[in-house]
Amino acid sequence: MIVDLDGVLWRGQTALPGVPEFFELLRQRSTPLILATNNSTISPQAIQDKLRGMGAKVRLEEVITSAEASALWLAERMEQGSAVYAIGEAGLHAALGEAGFTLAKTADGVGAVVVGMNRQATWTDVSEAVFAIHAGALFVGTNPDATFPSERGLAPGAGTLLAAIQTATGVEPTIIGKPEPHLFQQALARLGSSPENTLALGDRLETDILGAQRAGIRTVLVLTGVTQRKDLKGSPIQPDWVFDGLPQIVRSLSGDAA
Ligand SMILES: [Mg+2]
Repeated sequence: MIVDLDGVLWRGQTALPGVPEFFELLRQRSTPLILATNNSTISPQAIQDKLRGMGAKVRLEEVITSAEASALWLAERMEQGSAVYAIGEAGLHAALGEAGFTLAKTADGVGAVVVGMNRQATWTDVSEAVFAIHAGALFVGTNPDATFPSERGLAPGAGTLLAAIQTATGVEPTIIGKPEPHLFQQALARLGSSPENTLALGDRLETDILGAQRAGIRTVLVLTGVTQRKDLKGSPIQPDWVFDGLPQIVRSLSGDAA
């Protein structure tokens, strides 16, 4: 099972109901698990720590972020040690470093530009990315989210930076995160599982559900995040199953076992 984080397991810093019971059930049934998130700013370690505080234990290899997926995608296409120009936060820098890339300070000689959310991004960052892409560097976006929810309302996400760079270059980025299938394909590879034998669980029709469907994976929507029941009506994207939240999933699966 490939599980989204925000809107499924937590909202902001608060655990959603049923988290410990959901993990207990998956462990009892020995269901292979990958947590897959479009968030490129957070590290797998931070996700592990956050879940521990919510009563759920996960191994680091059970977590994949769009930053790691982007680094893996690039590692299949570029030589070890290549220079890349990154606009992102700690999660992206760490993932690129672990994949063996050198983080360049300027556009000069870089083979790729990788863009994730960066709440300290500057005009200089955007300019260097534009120069590099004009010079022929690959243009990769960790995730296309235009916005993300914050305490003050919808804040600009990685998609906002990608749009600025695309406007200046006329080049469309290769998106790794949802709703593109790459993140799901890497999650499947790590699970060692086929799409037919895997379920994806998420809270957003146009990212989690659409991305999983593009990867050929059957889908479960929970209504504890972005998508509400009224959004389902009339949407061309329809999940295979819909549950109000984790407690309803746990109840349904426990019923199956009985
Ligand atoms: Mg979500």
